[in-house]
Amino acid sequence: MWKKNDSIRLTIEDLTTEGAGIGKVDGFTFFIKDALIGDEIDARVIKLKKNYGFARLMNIITPSPDRVTPRCPVARSCGGCQIQAMRYDAQLAWKQEKVRQLLERVGHVSDYEMLPIMGMEEPWHYRNKVQYPVGLDKEGRIVTGFYAGRTHAIIDTERCYIQPEINEQILSVVKQWMADEQILPYDENTGKGLVRHVLTRIGFQTGEILVCLVINGQKLPHADPLISKLREIAGMKSISVSPNMSRSNVILGETSRTLWGQDYITDYIGNVKYQISPLSFYQVNPVQTRRLYQTALEFADPGPQDVVWDLYCGIGTISLFIAQKASQVHGVEIVPQAIEDAKRNAALNGMSNAHFYVGKAEEVLPQAYRENHIHADIIVVDPPRKGCDQALLDCMLKMQPAKIVYVSCDPATLARDLRILEEGGYKVKKVRCCDMFPHSIHCETVVLLTRNT
Ligand code: SAH
Repeated sequence: MWKKNDSIRLTIEDLTTEGAGIGKVDGFTFFIKDALIGDEIDARVIKLKKNYGFARLMNIITPSPDRVTPRCPVARSCGGCQIQAMRYDAQLAWKQEKVRQLLERVGHVSDYEMLPIMGMEEPWHYRNKVQYPVGLDKEGRIVTGFYAGRTHAIIDTERCYIQPEINEQILSVVKQWMADEQILPYDENTGKGLVRHVLTRIGFQTGEILVCLVINGQKLPHADPLISKLREIAGMKSISVSPNMSRSNVILGETSRTLWGQDYITDYIGNVKYQISPLSFYQVNPVQTRRLYQTALEFADPGPQDVVWDLYCGIGTISLFIAQKASQVHGVEIVPQAIEDAKRNAALNGMSNAHFYVGKAEEVLPQAYRENHIHADIIVVDPPRKGCDQALLDCMLKMQPAKIVYVSCDPATLARDLRILEEGGYKVKKVRCCDMFPHSIHCETVVLLTRNT
């Protein structure tokens, strides 16, 4: 019926979880990137499958009432902000609705309280960490920026509206140094070249800055002129390299080595102080993280007698938030460096009731339960996007904590896991979304489950 390059006119009715517009022509469904709910558009067919097709947005005939002009000139080509063209309050409403639909359709969850999504007052320059790929453009100039959606083509961006402005200065120092010293960026196709990524991290409360170069080699040649230029930037506290010689897409190496300054930067979330190393996971939006943890704490509502297990604990951020109220907190995390940070952070805050273990949550918890008969009043989980491992969910159900608080960065796996927990004797009581990544399709969610009595 349709052919490639055919022109179609349609109105967008919904968005996929990846943020692509969904519309129908004569009952046939098309997916169109960059189109918003309510847009009437002309599009060109680019790919056809049996029951659906993909088309490219060519012209907007009647814009959606939610449509705004994106601040960023490369918003459409860059893979970072998929929905910057949507008014911020509409973004928030869309995210909350997506979560609600997934919980109900996939999770079969009903009769729960959905608290209003927490959005940002000023949803710009919110990231404290950025990993810039480094490459060459067609003229052989060094470029840093972001990958275009779903590709590894680097869009050269000097200015990004969701990042700290100081990064422009850091990148220009690195680029100039590479040009001066004739240091080549890494080329994924040939496996040659040195500099793969520049990682920056900034403590929003303290102003401390960390820069880490991910390199395809053990040593950074001509490091001194780079260090002396970077040191001139106010707040610079730590300069390091992380060797990564793999041919994979993994960004960071397995280790990092400090070239100058401290091995970490310091930051605060609420009253709790954290030291953060280059390779440790630390939430990227500190303003919203505080509200996310506050919500997790309110949902957990630990009493002074309660024993809490915090699984996937990273550098112990949620653990230490909860340790302020609970009797004991035990954190489990797979990255050894993060656990070192977690232990140091507990000591830094004088918290002797927080204990940390390296390993897979799905192995450490079952083993501790089997061998030491541990008990938990409250279990908090904050897994990566793939959600919790089945062995972990099984163990949690056996341990029968009074409450489970699930912090999730992927509502689809959250819904899947909630169904398992509900079938195992728990009930979803409260759900609250938190917008950690304005202008992107991502949404963080906190859920409180209690045990059926
Ligand atoms: N709660 C922390 C970290 C959440 S991100 C915070 O808010 O900062 C998820 C964390 O899970 C990461 O630190 C990651 O290294 C860790 N992780 C991934 N797979 C794991 C597993 N199987 N067992 C334990 N931790 C894991």
